[in-house]
Amino acid sequence: MALYQIKNFSEIDFVNVDAVQDRFILPSGEVYRFSDHICHYCWSGGTVLETDEGEKKYFCLQCGNKLAWSKFVNDFLEPKGDTLEFLIPEHWTNEEKQQWYEDYKERRLAEEKVREDILRFGRE
Ligand SMILES: [Zn+2]
Repeated sequence: MALYQIKNFSEIDFVNVDAVQDRFILPSGEVYRFSDHICHYCWSGGTVLETDEGEKKYFCLQCGNKLAWSKFVNDFLEPKGDTLEFLIPEHWTNEEKQQWYEDYKERRLAEEKVREDILRFGRE
């Protein structure tokens, strides 16, 4: 394991780090490591950092955003009514978050349709 002193996240050398073990310490003293979570804005895995200790903070190297969990009520997939949580940019307004969720729902419903079609008609 290596501990890298960095001034900001852009200094992280993606190619040469050990994503499982390495830690990155910012001038503020905060220590980050690679997270198992994906960024729900980029939909890319392996680009999210999270703080090592204390209350979790997240940062996505791909889109360059601080991320935070946002909760939405599932009003489109059965069983409805449960809470869905996504890691999306922290600085977004509620309106932007809601817009993202609407887009997400559309995409998920399209995926569900594909899945149903495959079940019904087979893959070919
Ligand atoms: Zn991202």
